[in-house]
Amino acid sequence: MQFTPEILPNLINTVAEVIEKNSEEVTALDQAIGDGDHVINLQRGIGALLEQSAELAELKWTQAIQKIGMTLLSTMGGASGSLFGTLFISMAKAKNDNNILNQHELSVIYALGVEAVKKRGKSDVGEKTMLDVLIPVAECFKKDVDASVEFPKLLENICLTAEKGMESTRDMIATKGRASYMEEKSLGHIDAGARTSQLMICAIADVIGTEKK
Ligand code: ADP
Ligand code: MG
Repeated sequence: MQFTPEILPNLINTVAEVIEKNSEEVTALDQAIGDGDHVINLQRGIGALLEQSAELAELKWTQAIQKIGMTLLSTMGGASGSLFGTLFISMAKAKNDNNILNQHELSVIYALGVEAVKKRGKSDVGEKTMLDVLIPVAECFKKDVDASVEFPKLLENICLTAEKGMESTRDMIATKGRASYMEEKSLGHIDAGARTSQLMICAIADVIGTEKK
């Protein structure tokens, strides 16, 4: 399984669609324990990426991922803007001179990005944030790549892990971000950033699975 940045326009379109389709639900989640702007922030970033998508497809992976991170950082705003920005900018720091990514390289790069989000957010698993999806997905990705799990199965495992992580935030008390002001009242609600992370990861897995060469 190998892919080049030519896959990016399709990926960005699919992510835009899945976020649009679920926007009301995500807004309600962020209204319940945050300030309700998460989808608006995210859609501002995705809108900027849609405008750049033809240009991104022409770049090398390192430059494309770096540009995605810079665009999210400069357009999104909110806590999630700096965290999603950090995710991509840190992924781009991994040297990848080869312009074709395979699943092993992607799992290593993605794990570096997630580590940087943990540092930036001073946060870890169990705090009711996007990291409750991002971290288990990084672990599952590495485990399946190391075990040479067949690619379609690996993608399915990643999406299932993302769903499980997202669901797990419902029974957590938030200790980071705006939701932490709610203390115990944050119980019973899924974290908005965990939900959008899961939606995007499952959508990306779907596109990668269908486009496989
Ligand atoms: P804001 O909280 O500034 O309104 P958003 O609504 O766009 O920003 O994003 C909120 C999401 O960001 C939360 O649902 C959570 O997943 C994530 N988040 C907030 N703070 C942190 C943190 N310190 N570490 C990890 N993720 C965080
Ligand atoms: Mg918010």
